[in-house]
Amino acid sequence: PAVIVAIDGPSGTGKSSTSKAVAARLGLSYLDTGAQYRAITWWMLNNGVDTADADAVAAAAGKPSIVSGTDPLSPAISADGADASGPIRTQEVTAAVSAVSAVPEVRERITGLQRTIAAEARGGIVVEGRDIGTTVLPDADLKVFLTASPEARAARRNGELKTADGTSVSDLAATQQALTARDRADSSRKTSPLKKADDAVEVDTTELTLEQVVECVVTLVEK
Ligand code: C5P
Repeated sequence: PAVIVAIDGPSGTGKSSTSKAVAARLGLSYLDTGAQYRAITWWMLNNGVDTADADAVAAAAGKPSIVSGTDPLSPAISADGADASGPIRTQEVTAAVSAVSAVPEVRERITGLQRTIAAEARGGIVVEGRDIGTTVLPDADLKVFLTASPEARAARRNGELKTADGTSVSDLAATQQALTARDRADSSRKTSPLKKADDAVEVDTTELTLEQVVECVVTLVEK
């Protein structure tokens, strides 16, 4: 039977790395739901939609096609046929995504896509996000909620922003501040806020390596 694994938590907790590695280890499909919200945000920024105007965002929510690849070894995402994998990681998109994803019409649209992808994943899927265990897939076989200290999260996020010669491109305090602001926006919105499901297993990754977190989740799936 197809196994459905929901992995939720704020950014910088190792959610994406963990989810991809668990899916690859277990031969499951993989869906990055944050990438879907980022892709629709990117499309709106490129198509003259004022992302601070909830009515304008709602009116545009159904327009772009958003297509996600589900291979954990090469995750892909496109908006209206254009490859969005690179541009969805820019500061511009990161700054606008919380407001866009707070609009109910956007959540309805993207949640529908997520449920279809999960239902069609033969063999099972690991779905990572903020509201997967609470709202999108409340019947998931396993729900994991990842946490980490604010310092560890900022350090990991900064690590991802390194240049080719290994120097950090942004300062830690600024990264921590941006993360905190996004957490606050994601946790305080009215429609499916970032929240641990009652039946989720909480894993604090502060003192753990990626390998240890993956091992922990794989063990939970196999139980
Ligand atoms: O995980 P990532 O940082 O890429 O997510 C980007 C943003 O997308 C989050 O800050 C949040 O606003 C939104 N998001 C969401 N629900 C999800 C996944 C992401 O609202 N399931």
